[in-house]
Amino acid sequence: LVVLGIESSADDSSASIVTSDRNILSLVTISQHAENSKYGGIHPLAAQSAHVKNVPSAIARCLREAGLKMSDVDAVAYTRGPGMRGCLSIGEMAAKGLAAGTEKRLVGVHHMQAHALTLLLTEPRPPPFPFLILLVSGGHTQLVLAESSDQFKILLDTLDSKIGDAFEKAARVIQLPAHPTRSPGSILESYAASPSLPPFDLSPLPALPIPLSMNTAAQTHAFSFAGILSSLQRVVSRLDLTSTPSEQRELSRIFQDAAVSHLTLKLEQAINYIDPTIRNGLGGLVVSGGVASNLFIRGELKAMLSRTSKGKSGVIGVQKEGIQLFYPPIQLCTDNAAMIAWAAILRLQAGLDSDPYDLPLRPKWSLEDLYDDQPATPN
Ligand code: ATP
Ligand code: FE
Repeated sequence: LVVLGIESSADDSSASIVTSDRNILSLVTISQHAENSKYGGIHPLAAQSAHVKNVPSAIARCLREAGLKMSDVDAVAYTRGPGMRGCLSIGEMAAKGLAAGTEKRLVGVHHMQAHALTLLLTEPRPPPFPFLILLVSGGHTQLVLAESSDQFKILLDTLDSKIGDAFEKAARVIQLPAHPTRSPGSILESYAASPSLPPFDLSPLPALPIPLSMNTAAQTHAFSFAGILSSLQRVVSRLDLTSTPSEQRELSRIFQDAAVSHLTLKLEQAINYIDPTIRNGLGGLVVSGGVASNLFIRGELKAMLSRTSKGKSGVIGVQKEGIQLFYPPIQLCTDNAAMIAWAAILRLQAGLDSDPYDLPLRPKWSLEDLYDDQPATPN
């Protein structure tokens, strides 16, 4: 199978050609970080206009780079949801027009299912089902149990902000400079990681409080990032200075420390809470979504899991060797059309129907309701 994938759910216009033998023949992604910095985030109409401009170029370039024509493609896949309606509709129209005009099969893909299954495209020895997936992105912060490639249970969700969005807002609060090709979250990571510039004129800032951190029987099983952002805003307003690079580094560090401590704490508590028969049969923990590219987070998750498996934190032991961590390659953690094409390939390989041309978008769509509005009958 050769599938052309199109992704336009948020601010990246992406097109890719992927084959069923797990080859990414081409991947072209045109991002809008410069636009976003003008508006202080994704502006729905500006983002939609940018997709109108960029989606056709991405498709043309990805076919050219793969050395293929539409006649070589078996199916066209696009992101059906969740995402911003106006943005989704541009990729949808491009995909439906191409599929209809060239009589190809059409597949509308769930964006988070695609993030969740990216690893099966890139990892030579992926974990067997069931496994856990930590989805950390601009629009989601969820711990999910994947029972198969289309059966998901959400074990943990966020009560308020999503972690990627919190990183972006924090970068704005700290007034970090914008970058044409890097997201504000990854800029904050660099600031937090870089050593302070000498002479360091700022005494270390105290840590921000960690939400929902009580380790009692009444633990709340959820993430929450809004409070950390408010605490950061309070610290910044008290500093009452235009921030120097040293201060920006310190502020980035205390924000990232608090957000990641909270993430790992709630994850650890949730893993403990999982029924031991399920926990002991887990194939691993896959971390995916844009925030999974953060190397500090990767280090802290590894430390937490090795603590957990050694029982040092008083946690009920998982398998002796612990839960193995998996990540897609960094360039496939953020939005890309290769994951959309790949999710469609898995669906077609499972013998499920392709979609009709009048399939509606689903801007709000839970991973638990993948096929609740369409007959998922094998061919
Ligand atoms: P969703 O997938 O939930 O619909 P999205 O598609 O907008 O949301 P992704 O493209 O998967 O999100 O991820 C982008 C998010 O990841 C942005 O919020 C960005 O700031 C964040 N991000 C990217 N790199 C990093 C990093 N190194 N550290 C922290 N956050 C990061
Ligand atoms: Fe995404």
